[in-house]
Amino acid sequence: MSKKIFLDEKEMPTHWYNVVADMPNKPLPPLHPGTKQPVGPEDLAPLFPMELIMQEVSADRYIEIPQEVQDIYKIWRPTPLVRATGLEKVLGTNSKIYYKYEGGSPSGSHKPNTAVPQAYYNKKEGVKKITTETGAGQWGTALSFACAQFGIECDVYMVKVSYDQKPYRKVLMNTFGANVFASPSNRTNAGRNILANDPDSTGSLGIAISEAVEMAASDSETKYALGSVLNHVLLHQTIIGQEAEKQMEYAGDFPDIVIAPLGGGSNFAGISFPFLKHKITGGKSVRCIAVEPASCPKLTKGKFMYDFGDTAGYTPLLPMYTLGHNFKPAAIHAGGLRYHGASVLCSQLLKDGLIEAVALQQLECFEAGVVFAKAEGIVAAPEATHGIAQVIREAKKADEEGVSKTILFNLCGHGFVDMQAYADYFAGSLQNHEFEGNELTSSLEEIGALQPQ
Ligand SMILES: *Cc1c(COP(=O)(O)O)cnc(C)c1O
Repeated sequence: MSKKIFLDEKEMPTHWYNVVADMPNKPLPPLHPGTKQPVGPEDLAPLFPMELIMQEVSADRYIEIPQEVQDIYKIWRPTPLVRATGLEKVLGTNSKIYYKYEGGSPSGSHKPNTAVPQAYYNKKEGVKKITTETGAGQWGTALSFACAQFGIECDVYMVKVSYDQKPYRKVLMNTFGANVFASPSNRTNAGRNILANDPDSTGSLGIAISEAVEMAASDSETKYALGSVLNHVLLHQTIIGQEAEKQMEYAGDFPDIVIAPLGGGSNFAGISFPFLKHKITGGKSVRCIAVEPASCPKLTKGKFMYDFGDTAGYTPLLPMYTLGHNFKPAAIHAGGLRYHGASVLCSQLLKDGLIEAVALQQLECFEAGVVFAKAEGIVAAPEATHGIAQVIREAKKADEEGVSKTILFNLCGHGFVDMQAYADYFAGSLQNHEFEGNELTSSLEEIGALQPQ
């Protein structure tokens, strides 16, 4: 039995898989915040190139990956599927554990899978500059790299707390040629408004999105890019699961359980949707489990309703599980999971009972990350440790029940730029954070009566 299952470059998928084609209940449309009517392609045109807008609303099952994008993917794809024999041994489990490793990409996570096609479609439509936000820095790094591939200028609004805490992420983005601004900044109305009320604001993803959107909306040669949540982002990530599908086949296996951490939903969708297809269309019994942090539990404690994607309220209203667009999650180290909402596609699938969600505390996750590092030799990103912790729970549960499961998870990134998180964990300065229900109601009140029917 081999430890790693590789694919040849020639076997890399040539199409992305669009789960919308197979969803029993199609996602509800995003609404214009002013008219409360569904937004049309023309409403989104100031922010995104038309090709991405068409992907956003597409119901085609497969969408071809442009050759130029495939060529750049080959810098790090296909990625390996690994049988976690070391972890299985440490756990003494009868289950089989596999992981798909996305940490070998230029930014060390799954994010370039969508950054590259997004930059490509912008380039094709003559865009000169792309603005974006970044939390922990993973998305900003991925987009900086992608823009460098196509000669596009890149402005990144980085949440101030991360800007101060993760200087190497900023240098990485600078290395790929991007300009990086601490958010809230004085460059935008959104930023100046926040600073007027709170000069010491450490920022949030919602604020940084508002700043990046404002800059793109006010310049015809500038567009905006989002690293998660939107349908086209989830679409691009399905290359992960489609590769894994072939690799599992070569291993002679099919997963009973597919697990990934969920911030906005893109890496979870990426690995799970191609397997979910077999459940929806072929009746295969596969459980897909999204793992969120207990401090930001939109799927397990949020409400399914229309809400803004950003703090200032510039984006369309999205039908999703949300904690409210003003929700301020605790400053946990898994920065990529600190988003108030979940993608429309993941939200609808959860509502329809086709996927599952759990919320885990960060101490259990770091403990799992350390077990995994010793056993498998890879230091996982703090976000990814949430997936590992759930894998360990499922393996133990199977052993208690006297059964053997085949578990696949997405090791969506390495933690080399997040070692302060591990240092804090070892120093005992990390705490679990229990979500307070009243944070939710106060934050959601202003959205009011827009519940989807
Ligand atoms: C951004 C990020 C996440 C969360 O985003 P999703 O869109 O939910 O995937 C998780 N893990 C890593 C390593 C990230 O960079």
